[in-house]
Amino acid sequence: KTHPFIERDANKCIGCQRCARVCLEVQSAGALSINQRVGTAEGFGGSLLKTPCVSCGQCLDACPVGALYAKAEPVQLRQVKSICHYCGVGCGIYIGVNSGQVASIRGDNDNPVNRGMLCVKGRFGYEFVNHPERLKTPLVKSGGEFFPVSWEEALDLIASKFAAGRGSRFGAISSAKCTNEDNYVLQKFTRSVMNTNNIDHCARLCHAPSVAGLAQSLGSGAMTNSINEIQSASSILAIGSNTTASHPVIGIEVIKAVKNGARLIVANPRKIDLCRFATLWLRHQPGTDVALLNGIMHVIVQEGLHDAEFIATRCEGFEALRCSLNTFTPDHVEKITGVPGEKIIEAARMYATHAPAMILYAMGITQHTHGTDNVLAVSNLAMLTGNLGKPSSGVNPLRGQNNVQGSCDMGALPNVFPGYQAVNDPVKRRIFEQAWQCQLDPVPGLTLTEILDAAQQKQISTLYIMGENPVLSEPDASRARQALEAVAFLVVQDIFLTDTARLADVVLPAATFGEKDGTLTNTERRVQRIYKAVEPAGHSLPDWEIICRIARAMGAEGFNFRNESEIFDEIRRLAPAFGGMTYQRLEESGLQWPCPAEDHPGTPILYLDSFLTSNGKGRFKPLDYKPPAESVDDEYPLLLTTERSLYHYHTGTMTRRVSGLNVLRSSELVEINPEDACKLDIKDSEMVRVISRRGAVTARVKITPDSPPGVISMTFHFAESPTNLLTNPALDPVAKIPELKVCAVRIEKTGFLPTVV
Ligand code: SF4
Repeated sequence: KTHPFIERDANKCIGCQRCARVCLEVQSAGALSINQRVGTAEGFGGSLLKTPCVSCGQCLDACPVGALYAKAEPVQLRQVKSICHYCGVGCGIYIGVNSGQVASIRGDNDNPVNRGMLCVKGRFGYEFVNHPERLKTPLVKSGGEFFPVSWEEALDLIASKFAAGRGSRFGAISSAKCTNEDNYVLQKFTRSVMNTNNIDHCARLCHAPSVAGLAQSLGSGAMTNSINEIQSASSILAIGSNTTASHPVIGIEVIKAVKNGARLIVANPRKIDLCRFATLWLRHQPGTDVALLNGIMHVIVQEGLHDAEFIATRCEGFEALRCSLNTFTPDHVEKITGVPGEKIIEAARMYATHAPAMILYAMGITQHTHGTDNVLAVSNLAMLTGNLGKPSSGVNPLRGQNNVQGSCDMGALPNVFPGYQAVNDPVKRRIFEQAWQCQLDPVPGLTLTEILDAAQQKQISTLYIMGENPVLSEPDASRARQALEAVAFLVVQDIFLTDTARLADVVLPAATFGEKDGTLTNTERRVQRIYKAVEPAGHSLPDWEIICRIARAMGAEGFNFRNESEIFDEIRRLAPAFGGMTYQRLEESGLQWPCPAEDHPGTPILYLDSFLTSNGKGRFKPLDYKPPAESVDDEYPLLLTTERSLYHYHTGTMTRRVSGLNVLRSSELVEINPEDACKLDIKDSEMVRVISRRGAVTARVKITPDSPPGVISMTFHFAESPTNLLTNPALDPVAKIPELKVCAVRIEKTGFLPTVV
């Protein structure tokens, strides 16, 4: 009865053990047992909250008699197929509807991504849709206060301000939480109506190095293989990815692979949950990934474990790579990374001799000032061992948000039109000029971080933000706030009055998941349909429709779409990789791009015969080790690394409005190693101040060996403890991603010990 989502009626339990088995054998949590004496299911220790339960709810689906059931879930009158609105895994769901409200979610057993499985957020994290704080009408600020206005009044005001702000002084921030159709329409509006390429989105803060790095080495910046291939890999290198927390259903696939006999190498400074299943755990210092990967490659080349035939026929630049690896001996790499030389040798042998080998990575690789180098190093390793263009192999960036892949594909980026067609390529530009009947700017626009810098310097005077919260998500967040305050006219379109929306001149209410149709593209390039299950709250509208209304109010042509399907048809015509997709074809289980023709089955595995580079060859890139922009010193003796909680999502706009998720994780935690806590005389659960060169944040301490000595860890889900006040805005020179993963901090005691733990 203590669990916020799951309840048990022991009278109904028939002791069949299905719940306990799914918990142990599928989810690998082992939280449930069958009480042999009375023959009923229960959590070890009485309360599920005291067990390793991850609240995935698989036990509810497994129970044939309803002895385990979802708390406070009314009978659903209707079930509507859709896709989860949280992470980039893109799990298939059915939304249960009762009295016009989202009343439940269950996994779609037929969806090839998750086959019915969901994580706690996907299954239970929907309360925010019906939340009373939803924005229901446009708001205009006057005298520092917001006043509700009609759509006509809001659109007239925006149209007149936008019309006066066309060109390079305009910027748009798109959203990886919005559909492909929303993102397509916003980039079209920015380019064709506002005459600028100043559009970007939060991919800049997560996987811009994947796009930039993999485009250089392989030709395209996306996951090369598919989620359902993970279980058949012979070895898996999971580097910079806390997979079970950030991509939980992919985490289950990794564990399944281990149970099938795969060797799992985890490379992570923190002791993450996957370490329980790892054959080998490499605990390297934050920011030393290039050195670690070069060390592994050094051993592979020295021992002749590389795939000479693959290198000769499919790649170029091997000799330069070989020379560059000379200095990365295990001893040298041990000094940089802290990983014992023998473990580096063991990892190299394990990865190189157990094919097919898959590399999974996430933001532990990308969010660095050398994030692009990290991605190139990952790609070098896969090419070196011939682990590309084959099932259960490849380089697989796990994208964070539900449509971050799609937002990039749709051209919500400053340098490319939809389908990664360069804005400065005159042939491509001409195609879009003809389609959109306008003149387009040939100069690439500003990135997200550059837009905010330009705003601070008053070079951007009009800014349109759709579904983003940079006040909490940007590094050095106080600077982001100053930048938004400096904008002369700020429009924010969102589902709640976020910290960013509070700074706006006009706030526009948007429809959320379950309230609109469209498509989302998951991390494995699978374009999937979402369907409207309930009416949008109040007067809120789908994002694409709001943008079209603004465009029409400005007298623009080409924004008369009657529905999402018409937008998708325009996307298909202009982006060849989507040419063969129709709404009808996507209905069953989606299609993976490239899918150039209507008789094309989609592409689960990229680069079967050649790469997408100009000559079809994979390009090795020699790399040197570069340390993080900030290292520890006497004033700031600890490194801060950021991560994600299983129970919350991004800046918490949605999950913080789900009461049960707040029970499971209520506040920010500063995770610190017992050695450091002892040195600083800090007790568990004590409130401390974490201070960097940019700001200070107060949060509660959790003492845990999961954090290595000298490194503390925090999430960025909690507005009360905005971790990004601390993080470093220093940029990767290629991808322009800030170094969100590493910065130097110190901890001070506040002298306040909370009573609630
Ligand atoms: Fe949703 Fe990701 Fe969880 Fe799947 S793994 S249910 S997509 S949050």
